[in-house]
Amino acid sequence: MTNHTHDHDEGGSRKRPAGLLKNEKLVWDVLAASRDPLKAYEILDRLKERGVRAPMTVYRALDGLEAKGHIHKLDGLNAFVVCNHEGPHVVQAFLVCETCSTVKELEVIAVEADIAPAVRAAAFDMHTARLEIKGNCSACASITKANVA
Ligand SMILES: [Zn+2]
Ligand SMILES: [Zn+2]
Repeated sequence: MTNHTHDHDEGGSRKRPAGLLKNEKLVWDVLAASRDPLKAYEILDRLKERGVRAPMTVYRALDGLEAKGHIHKLDGLNAFVVCNHEGPHVVQAFLVCETCSTVKELEVIAVEADIAPAVRAAAFDMHTARLEIKGNCSACASITKANVA
Protein backbone atom coordinates (compact mmCIF):
# COMPACT_ATOMS: atom_id res chain seq x y z
CA MET A 1 0.00 0.00 0.00
CA THR A 2 1.50 3.30 -1.01
CA ASN A 3 0.62 6.41 0.85
CA HIS A 4 2.03 9.44 -0.90
CA THR A 5 2.16 12.69 0.91
CA HIS A 6 0.89 15.44 -1.27
CA ASP A 7 3.79 17.78 -1.76
CA HIS A 8 2.51 18.84 -5.14
CA ASP A 9 -0.39 21.20 -5.51
CA GLU A 10 -3.51 19.43 -6.71
CA GLY A 11 -4.93 22.50 -8.32
CA GLY A 12 -6.26 23.36 -4.89
CA SER A 13 -5.45 26.30 -2.68
CA ARG A 14 -4.11 24.18 0.12
CA LYS A 15 -0.69 25.27 1.08
CA ARG A 16 0.45 24.16 4.48
CA PRO A 17 0.28 27.14 6.83
CA ALA A 18 3.49 28.41 8.38
CA GLY A 19 4.26 28.21 12.07
CA LEU A 20 2.99 24.71 12.77
CA LEU A 21 4.52 22.36 15.32
CA LYS A 22 5.92 19.06 14.05
CA ASN A 23 2.85 17.00 14.95
CA GLU A 24 0.49 19.70 13.71
CA LYS A 25 2.21 19.48 10.31
CA LEU A 26 1.71 15.71 10.23
CA VAL A 27 -1.97 15.99 11.13
CA TRP A 28 -2.57 18.90 8.75
CA ASP A 29 -0.98 16.95 5.88
CA VAL A 30 -3.26 13.97 6.51
CA LEU A 31 -6.36 16.16 6.59
CA ALA A 32 -5.36 18.17 3.53
CA ALA A 33 -4.80 14.99 1.52
CA SER A 34 -8.19 13.56 2.44
CA ARG A 35 -11.28 14.11 0.36
CA ASP A 36 -13.53 13.41 3.34
CA PRO A 37 -13.59 14.73 6.88
CA LEU A 38 -11.57 12.51 9.20
CA LYS A 39 -12.18 11.41 12.76
CA ALA A 40 -9.29 11.54 15.24
CA TYR A 41 -8.77 7.78 15.18
CA GLU A 42 -8.66 7.77 11.38
CA ILE A 43 -5.93 10.40 11.50
CA LEU A 44 -4.05 8.34 14.07
CA ASP A 45 -4.40 5.30 11.82
CA ARG A 46 -2.81 7.13 8.91
CA LEU A 47 0.03 8.44 11.05
CA LYS A 48 1.02 5.09 12.55
CA GLU A 49 3.49 4.39 9.79
CA ARG A 50 5.06 7.75 10.50
CA GLY A 51 5.70 6.84 14.10
CA VAL A 52 2.71 8.49 15.78
CA ARG A 53 1.13 6.02 18.18
CA ALA A 54 -0.41 8.01 21.00
CA PRO A 55 -3.96 9.32 20.57
CA MET A 56 -3.03 12.28 22.81
CA THR A 57 -0.49 13.38 20.21
CA VAL A 58 -3.23 13.60 17.60
CA TYR A 59 -5.73 15.29 19.94
CA ARG A 60 -3.18 17.89 20.98
CA ALA A 61 -2.25 18.64 17.38
CA LEU A 62 -5.95 18.90 16.45
CA ASP A 63 -6.56 21.32 19.34
CA GLY A 64 -3.59 23.43 18.27
CA LEU A 65 -4.64 23.51 14.62
CA GLU A 66 -8.22 24.38 15.54
CA ALA A 67 -7.11 27.15 17.91
CA LYS A 68 -4.98 28.64 15.13
CA GLY A 69 -7.91 28.47 12.73
CA HIS A 70 -6.33 26.05 10.26
CA ILE A 71 -8.88 23.27 10.64
CA HIS A 72 -12.52 23.00 11.69
CA LYS A 73 -14.31 20.42 13.73
CA LEU A 74 -17.64 19.20 12.41
CA ASP A 75 -19.58 18.43 15.58
CA GLY A 76 -22.31 16.51 13.78
CA LEU A 77 -19.79 14.09 12.30
CA ASN A 78 -17.21 14.35 15.08
CA ALA A 79 -14.64 14.81 12.33
CA PHE A 80 -12.17 17.40 11.13
CA VAL A 81 -11.54 19.27 7.88
CA VAL A 82 -8.88 21.69 6.71
CA CYS A 83 -10.02 25.32 6.50
CA ASN A 84 -10.39 26.79 3.00
CA HIS A 85 -9.93 30.33 4.12
CA GLU A 86 -7.13 32.68 4.97
CA GLY A 87 -6.81 33.06 8.68
CA PRO A 88 -9.18 32.18 11.52
CA HIS A 89 -12.86 33.00 11.25
CA VAL A 90 -15.55 32.53 13.88
CA VAL A 91 -18.46 31.95 11.53
CA GLN A 92 -18.14 28.64 9.73
CA ALA A 93 -20.56 27.04 7.31
CA PHE A 94 -20.32 23.64 5.64
CA LEU A 95 -22.25 21.70 3.05
CA VAL A 96 -22.30 18.11 4.27
CA CYS A 97 -23.38 15.51 1.71
CA GLU A 98 -25.24 12.71 3.46
CA THR A 99 -24.77 10.38 0.48
CA CYS A 100 -21.06 10.55 -0.36
CA SER A 101 -20.02 12.29 2.88
CA THR A 102 -17.97 14.98 1.21
CA VAL A 103 -17.85 18.33 2.97
CA LYS A 104 -17.44 21.67 1.27
CA GLU A 105 -16.78 24.81 3.25
CA LEU A 106 -18.84 27.78 2.15
CA GLU A 107 -17.68 31.33 1.70
CA VAL A 108 -18.16 32.79 5.13
CA ILE A 109 -18.60 36.43 4.22
CA ALA A 110 -22.28 36.22 3.35
CA VAL A 111 -23.09 34.08 6.39
CA GLU A 112 -21.13 36.36 8.69
CA ALA A 113 -22.87 39.45 7.37
CA ASP A 114 -26.19 37.96 8.44
CA ILE A 115 -25.18 36.51 11.80
CA ALA A 116 -22.68 38.99 13.22
CA PRO A 117 -24.98 42.05 13.52
CA ALA A 118 -27.71 40.02 15.23
CA VAL A 119 -25.21 38.58 17.69
CA ARG A 120 -23.82 42.03 18.43
CA ALA A 121 -27.32 43.42 18.93
CA ALA A 122 -27.83 40.83 21.66
CA ALA A 123 -24.56 41.94 23.29
CA PHE A 124 -23.46 38.33 23.07
CA ASP A 125 -19.77 37.45 23.15
CA MET A 126 -19.60 34.95 20.30
CA HIS A 127 -16.76 32.44 20.13
CA THR A 128 -17.80 30.33 17.18
CA ALA A 129 -20.86 29.85 14.99
CA ARG A 130 -20.87 26.66 13.01
CA LEU A 131 -23.50 25.68 10.53
CA GLU A 132 -23.65 22.17 9.08
CA ILE A 133 -25.97 22.15 6.11
CA LYS A 134 -26.99 18.58 5.36
CA GLY A 135 -28.34 17.14 2.16
CA ASN A 136 -26.96 16.00 -1.18
CA CYS A 137 -24.05 17.51 -3.10
CA SER A 138 -24.72 18.40 -6.74
CA ALA A 139 -23.31 15.07 -7.99
CA CYS A 140 -25.39 12.98 -5.57
CA ALA A 141 -28.49 15.10 -6.09
CA SER A 142 -28.43 14.43 -9.84
CA ILE A 143 -28.01 10.68 -9.25
CA THR A 144 -30.93 10.69 -6.82
CA LYS A 145 -33.10 12.50 -9.34
CA ALA A 146 -32.07 10.14 -12.14
CA ASN A 147 -33.09 7.14 -10.01
CA VAL A 148 -36.47 8.65 -9.27
CA ALA A 149 -37.16 9.51 -12.92
ZN1 LIG B 1 -12.66 27.89 7.35
ZN1 LIG C 1 -22.49 13.69 -2.50
